[in-house]
Amino acid sequence: MNAVLRDFDLIVIGGGSGGLAGAFRAAEHGARVALLEPNLLGGTCVNVGCVPKKAMWLAAEVAGRLRMARDLGFDVAEAPALDWPTFIAHRQRYIANIHDSYRRRLDANGIVVAPMRAHFIDARTIECMDGVRLSAPNILIATGGHPVRPALPGAELGGVSDDFFQWTAAPERVAIVGGGYIAVELAGLLQALGSRVDLLVRGRLLDGFDTELVEQLGEDYRHAGVHLQFGHRLAAVERDGEGVRLRDADGGLSERYDRLLFATGRAANTAGLHLDAAGVRTDANGYVQVDARHATNVAGIHAVGDVTADPALTPVAIAAARRLMDRLYGGASAVFDAQDIPTVVFSHPPIGKVGLTEAQAREQHGDAVRVYRAGFRPMLHALVNSPQRSLFKLVCVGEERRVIGIHLMGEAADEILQGFAVALKRGITLDDLRDTVAIHPTSAEEVVLMR
Ligand code: FAD
Repeated sequence: MNAVLRDFDLIVIGGGSGGLAGAFRAAEHGARVALLEPNLLGGTCVNVGCVPKKAMWLAAEVAGRLRMARDLGFDVAEAPALDWPTFIAHRQRYIANIHDSYRRRLDANGIVVAPMRAHFIDARTIECMDGVRLSAPNILIATGGHPVRPALPGAELGGVSDDFFQWTAAPERVAIVGGGYIAVELAGLLQALGSRVDLLVRGRLLDGFDTELVEQLGEDYRHAGVHLQFGHRLAAVERDGEGVRLRDADGGLSERYDRLLFATGRAANTAGLHLDAAGVRTDANGYVQVDARHATNVAGIHAVGDVTADPALTPVAIAAARRLMDRLYGGASAVFDAQDIPTVVFSHPPIGKVGLTEAQAREQHGDAVRVYRAGFRPMLHALVNSPQRSLFKLVCVGEERRVIGIHLMGEAADEILQGFAVALKRGITLDDLRDTVAIHPTSAEEVVLMR
């Protein structure tokens, strides 16, 4: 019979964005917390997601700037190349600092960390891989998700985003399969870092983002040299020496690629958790089912982040976990507000949105919708005569023209959107924007100058 440790108020399974945020907040309220994490602290975001991705995106931005610098008259090499090992050393040092900071905060908060995988024994008890059992009145499932390859012959010859972060050089020729944000981000940054990128898309790019902006982004990608193939039906992957060729559904064989990446979706990390032992329900897509309070169907068991069907974004996992702990241990009652979550894709240039797209708005509000646009070349691109364009769009509704959607595609969109997301959430109108004095000359001013 295994001994059961009952010293905890809360057990957190998973030390990624949601799990860490939940553990810290609960401990700050005085709860005794145990956290199970078999891999690196920080989970997907810190180790194989947002952080290393943004680092690579920044490197790609610098590469683009160096090319523009040359065109502007700076004495810069024809095609400045990145030494990946040097850059990766900087990237990983940055990530190691995050690990250290988490470790210090966990210690300071008295959180017990077990570097182990865990699974349920019953609704109050989990077992670690070493056989130790822990029991607590509250358990938080925050085990995140993982990338999945399509079920195709030869699919194992392609990598996924986790593999990308192990690369130590840019491949000369790379195919990326997928049209979601990870596919678009990796395609943009690899092209900017010198690869020749084919982006193979089954449907459209960036479902859920404004169609016009996505079309303009596609144009910008084409100008940057990305080969976009729409309606692509991949049937099989075949080995060709160290590289691969792709067989499509009509039997056609592609040219040879040095590398292949699948960005074709992610699935919840529930295998091995023995959710059935606790009676926790999952939905048809395998996500842990939660209500607006992030409670599962079993009292005392909650779930946040990518293991649920919530939008797969780090700030969403963090906010949901903090609200939950504020309710469980801090006497608060507020639930996570899932309305108007701003989100940015780190494409080149970035694209971001908050609120409804034009199509969603028209579905909900019909003819009461008014749309305002600003298409322009950002100043630096105009100076170097680059064809890259920006497109900003406001979606408004009703007589008072309340702003219900803000869509930005272009340089600095990633940094501009956050402030305007606050404004949208506060219920501003088009006149509020127009009454705001512009900051000139910037891209951001286009948001308050739209006619
Ligand atoms: P995770 O961060 O995945 O953490 C889950 C943890 O649980 C993992 O560390 C895992 O080891 C652990 N675990 C799993 N099973 C067990 C078990 N049985 N026992 C114990 N521990 C277990 N989001 C953004 O907001 N902005 C971005 O720019 C962005 N870019 C991204 C880029 C990529 C390539 C990817 C893949 C994701 C990106 N995301 C981004 C999404 C973001 O990373 C996730 O939404 C976020 O990490 C989810 O947090 P989480 O806590 O739910 O899961």
